[in-house]
Amino acid sequence: MDEKKLTLDVMDRGAVYCDIRKERWYSTVLNLKDGVPETIIQGEEEGAMTRVLYGNGWGYVGTADMSSLESAMDRAFMMAKNSDPLRKQKTGLAHVDPQHSKVIMPMKEDFRDISPEEKLDFLRDIEGHLKCDFVKSTDIRYRDTLVKKEIITGDGTHVEMEIPRTVTYMIITGKSDTVQMAVHGVGGTGGFEMSRSTYDHVDTVKDMLKNLLKAKSPPSGKLPVVMDPHLTGVFSHEAFGHAAEGDLVASGNSCLKGKIGEKVASDMVTIKDDPTMDGYGTFPFDDEGTKAKNRILVKDGVLNDFILDRENAWKLGMEPNGGARAEDFRVKPLVRMSNTILEPGDMHFEELIEGIDRGIYAKSTSGGQVSPAQGTFQFNAQVAFLIENGEITRPLRNVSFNGFTLETLQKIVGVSKDFETGVGHCGKGQSAPVTDGGANVLISQVTVGGRE
Ligand SMILES: [Zn+2]
Repeated sequence: MDEKKLTLDVMDRGAVYCDIRKERWYSTVLNLKDGVPETIIQGEEEGAMTRVLYGNGWGYVGTADMSSLESAMDRAFMMAKNSDPLRKQKTGLAHVDPQHSKVIMPMKEDFRDISPEEKLDFLRDIEGHLKCDFVKSTDIRYRDTLVKKEIITGDGTHVEMEIPRTVTYMIITGKSDTVQMAVHGVGGTGGFEMSRSTYDHVDTVKDMLKNLLKAKSPPSGKLPVVMDPHLTGVFSHEAFGHAAEGDLVASGNSCLKGKIGEKVASDMVTIKDDPTMDGYGTFPFDDEGTKAKNRILVKDGVLNDFILDRENAWKLGMEPNGGARAEDFRVKPLVRMSNTILEPGDMHFEELIEGIDRGIYAKSTSGGQVSPAQGTFQFNAQVAFLIENGEITRPLRNVSFNGFTLETLQKIVGVSKDFETGVGHCGKGQSAPVTDGGANVLISQVTVGGRE
């Protein structure tokens, strides 16, 4: 069947827009818990999502039966046509230049050529490196996915892409006065070679646990806080990035609405969301077939751009920038982040802490909450350290801090030149693989509280 003809037929019947997104997934999920393989799943599946915009009404039909694409498209068309008169709000899609290309993102070491048994041996070897006197339990979770996508739109785009991703999470626990846990994930876009670099991060997660086991409760109050690159990344993604998502902005659920061109952070702050850089959230085209583009969200403290799909770009009168991502063929794309980074500055880490009489160096995160609409955040650091008279003195645990995102961004008074990224999965109804990262960042004052 000719998908291009299918889309053109629907356009001829009066649709404003339509597209077909065909996907074929290959994946392996493994879990090794204290030496025992608990999960071994290998799978392949395929399916397609069809979307039609008729007037102001949308219709979406997903199918796992590739021979029924024509009827799926037809049902999407009828749904769109029926919902058009019910929709009170006008909608549309911003123009994008039609794309025609095929991009295969490379794997140096193709994970499909490595058996699950060999992958488990690799996890067992990692486990061997993690084991030591203070590590009482290990849990190693591995996942690889290769997705082959083809997107055909009614306005002339036809792109194909292959995106391989792998990730390994190391979760270790130990016990002193209480049980403590440390977690670290390693991964990216690429083949099994990405997983092999897990070895380089074994000491990171072990150091974290070792410090947690001897850590004490933190002081509380308003204190200077230095965030490490991982926490800076999570702050940039959670507290700022979600508020920069075009759908939240257009629906009035973002503290950044109407603030393009305004100063929203200190001069030292530049935040980008870049699907074209190396990371776990990398892709050549988004799930509407729009070419991926680096979005400079904040430039030298000034709000510069949002993350936009075609519909929300239309609503806001802005340019689409490849912001549409769907978890798989069962669901429609939403506005999502990719690789979110607070760009490095020019200071050494020592310069960040040397002027601090009493403060906190907070590393990585173990959860928290944000409200993009109210612009508030609350994060728990995975581990932290007390800074006294310009020096790091002792480890702390249960460190939590909170505040207003925009007020806190204005209080950034130091940004280091060293820079790291981490991997994660962003949840917004659908899961999306993302990278976040940045520099070590000094915030002059944040409300810090203990959690015990
Ligand atoms: Zn998120």
